[in-house]
Order: sequence, then structure tokens, then C-alpha cells
Amino acid sequence: MELPEVEVVCRQMEKVLIGKKIVGAWGHPSKRFSPAKKSVGYTIQNIDRHGKYILLKMKEPYELICHLGMSGSLSLRPIKPEDETITALQLNKKYIRARWFFGAGESFGAGKGVGENVGENVGENAANKMSEIMELRDVRRFGWVFFVEEGNYSDIPTLQDAGPDALKPNFTVDGFYKALKSSRQNIKTQLLNQRAVAGLGNIYVDEALFDAGISPLRKSLSYERTEDLHKAIIKALNKGLKYGGTTLRDYRTFTGERGTHQNHLNCYDRGGQPCKKCQKPLSHIKLGGRGTTYCKTCQK
Ligand SMILES: [Zn+2]
Repeated sequence: MELPEVEVVCRQMEKVLIGKKIVGAWGHPSKRFSPAKKSVGYTIQNIDRHGKYILLKMKEPYELICHLGMSGSLSLRPIKPEDETITALQLNKKYIRARWFFGAGESFGAGKGVGENVGENVGENAANKMSEIMELRDVRRFGWVFFVEEGNYSDIPTLQDAGPDALKPNFTVDGFYKALKSSRQNIKTQLLNQRAVAGLGNIYVDEALFDAGISPLRKSLSYERTEDLHKAIIKALNKGLKYGGTTLRDYRTFTGERGTHQNHLNCYDRGGQPCKKCQKPLSHIKLGGRGTTYCKTCQK
């Protein structure tokens, strides 16, 4: 899941979560998801995003941060009677790793009734005070949940060290040029590691490099070519956003729809098929362990 998919989720969350108080929460007992419980008692003031991280900023100086990994999804629905008695084991079978209860009135403590252990009741006494439930479903468990003091990302190195978000105004050609110049890695690896710019993964890196005519293997770029790449990155992400994101396997928006950008890809996952610029077959290679598609003729 990359920036456009996460941005679609954030825009939908914004419409329904602002002003809601978290009155109960549960997290799978692993380090990745257990911090969900710390958010009980706080009220969501706004939804922000940095790269692939969703930042739910509270009225109080705290942030609930979700990273959906490869295939996680978040959804909101009205609470049902069975939510009161569902066990951690049953949640696990549905690949639900964290859940948050919303409602008005007194907050429901993180202790009693929001069990962590298999077989324990995770909604007991809760339903009368709660009206909606948000669930994080993550089959492959590459997601993360954090609850931190506002702006304190020291426990989240990939967020702490991330470059500017690719769709925010502080992603400038000058800053991008300097950041790329300071590394000797190939351009694809640099774009994936989030340090020069945050938000891109395999799909949008392959698309942007193809559009800019830049080989993923290149290790340095002139200022002019950096400018082309900067433009191509923003263009590729906005195109993904326009189609509601890319659904290859699991991606669903906050309201459960699939994206359609997978039907409009120019390069990603098209290895062996004709290049849309020169008609020669696109090459597929492994680069830093990641599958990479590019045109040897058009990308130099
Ligand atoms: Zn070509």
C-alpha cells in the first residue's frame, strides 16, 4: 500500500471520524498492534498522513498512528450485539488485529472487558456506551499501530527519518536533488527507502521512473533530470489517487471499495509486454530484492 491508497483512506476517514471519542480499544498482544489500547479516552481532532503513515491526531497532544503494511485495511461500522462477546481467538480467525470503539459519554477503560488473551471477552459491558467500531484487518501482519506524544516519532524510525511527503509543498526539487546526491545507492532503492521522499513503493516508483525516462539502476541524476523525476512522481501519485488507488490483491478503501488504478498502469508488473513508448518488450529484473520493470530503450 502506497501514498495514493493511504490518502484515499485518510480522506474517507476525515468525513466520519473527526470529533469521535475512542471509548474502548483492543489490540492483538503482539508489539505491532497492542499499542492500540493506549488510545482509549482520547478524541480524534484531525486526520493527517506522512508518506504511508496515517496520523490520527487527538484533541489532546497525542497521535494514534497506523501503518497498513502490504495488505492491511481499516473500516468503520455500527456496533453489533455479537461484538460484545467475540473472543480474541475469533478476531484472530478474521485477521482482525486491532479494534477501536467509538461513542459518546464516559470512556470505557482499557482494562476490564477488552481482553488480550485468547478466549477472553473483548467487548463485555461495552455496547451500551458504544455506537461504532473501527477494525484493522491485516492478513499478513505487516502493519503497525503506535500511540505516541504528538510529534514524538523516536520509536518509529521509518517515520522519524522519512523525507518530505511526496504530495506536500515541502517536497521541492532543490531538497530532492540534495537528498539524492547524498546517497550512492541506485535511484529505485533510494525512492523505496523513503529518505529522499516519503510515500512511494514498488508500483509508483516503477511508474514514475518510466514516465521520466530514468533507469532504476542509475546512481546519480543531473538537476534537470531530478526536476523531471520530481514532476513524474507527483503525476504518478495523482493518477493513482484519481482512480481511487491500486488494488492488486487486498487493498480496500475505508468504505470497502477497490481502486481501479491497476487497469491504467504503464510499466509496473508489465514485464515482457510491449513498452507503451517504443513497443519493445519491457524488462523485469530484481533490484535490491524487489521486482522491477523498466524499458531498457526508453529509460537511461
Ligand atoms: Zn520503451
